[in-house]
Amino acid sequence: MPRLDQASRIVIKIGSSLLVDEHDGRIRRSWLHSLADDITLMRKGGCEVVIVTSGAIAIGRRHLDLPPGRLRLDDSQAAAAAGQARLVHAYQEALGRHDTGTAQLLLTLDDTEDRRRYINALNTLNRLLKYGVIPVINENDTIATHEIRFGDNDRLSARVAMMASADTLVLLSDVDGLYERDPKDDPDAPLVEQVDAVTPRIEAMAGRVRTGDSSGGMKTKLIAAGIATTAGCHMVISNGHVQHPLRAILEGRPCTWFIAKDNPAGARKRWIAGSLKPSGTITVDAGAHAALNRGRSLLPAGVTGVAGAFRKGDAVIVEGPDGVEIARGLIAYSRDDAESIAGQKSSEIERLLGYRGREELIHRDDLVLS
Ligand code: GLU
Repeated sequence: MPRLDQASRIVIKIGSSLLVDEHDGRIRRSWLHSLADDITLMRKGGCEVVIVTSGAIAIGRRHLDLPPGRLRLDDSQAAAAAGQARLVHAYQEALGRHDTGTAQLLLTLDDTEDRRRYINALNTLNRLLKYGVIPVINENDTIATHEIRFGDNDRLSARVAMMASADTLVLLSDVDGLYERDPKDDPDAPLVEQVDAVTPRIEAMAGRVRTGDSSGGMKTKLIAAGIATTAGCHMVISNGHVQHPLRAILEGRPCTWFIAKDNPAGARKRWIAGSLKPSGTITVDAGAHAALNRGRSLLPAGVTGVAGAFRKGDAVIVEGPDGVEIARGLIAYSRDDAESIAGQKSSEIERLLGYRGREELIHRDDLVLS
């Protein structure tokens, strides 16, 4: 079984029902402070932490005096806008007690699917982690075009975990985990402690989503588990309705672990090399070829040719001077920009393009040797 104290990059998803009191719409500060204490301990152990949090709508609706019950899309969006600042401020304050900085990222599911926005969202996330700040992420509800459903953040957190190459995703929820049968139908149903693959048999255990449930039910959690484990990230579902909810997992509180199929780096390389259709070719000289073989990034200086129609973030093939494919990777520049900086020193990029982009044409994390 994986252990939280062995994680090196963790995404923690917090459901509205944990953070916000359903009766008065207030933030449960003492619970949040206990979570912040746990997060601080994990960070002291060398783990990087990313938070995906719900709660904007639950907080905002009180401030707009909206009636209880299901909201129309535009009212949900107004509530999210009214609640989001208060939500992030609560994290800022709770983590600030430990001198930990926070930063807000509002994403849509598309940001993690569309590679151009994805590459920017990922760069921001990596920068923040490098500066020791905790990214606090929610869905950008105001621009969501679909109905905002509870459970969206389960999937968003899995996509964030995949994007960030996290090794562990924790879904803090109001259930202990996955039961063999729906505990509302069968209170004696046993909890499943470990899931090695999300098979149809496991999916059948998720039961149906009931209207009025405060969470997306097990269905969205299993979708999240599928995304996370394929991306090399373990996932755990645990009941967060306790003080110090992360410590509780470490101390052996019953929960369900979904075991990753690979490690995040391996899964990412498989994704780049196998799943993406290349839309261009970069030809490099012998020096760059040798550097790539030593595990280095591809710099513009070693590029002798650019072909194809690609945009920033697209997958491209890298070929050696003899025209043989040597690698595949995600390119940090569009075709036009790549052509302008090909063969040039990285220090020239700003002068040539008029903006300061990345030094690497393809960063080694985004590159897989063929
Ligand atoms: N983004 C919504 C909010 O912050 C919650 C969506 C969800 O719970 O999955 O209120």
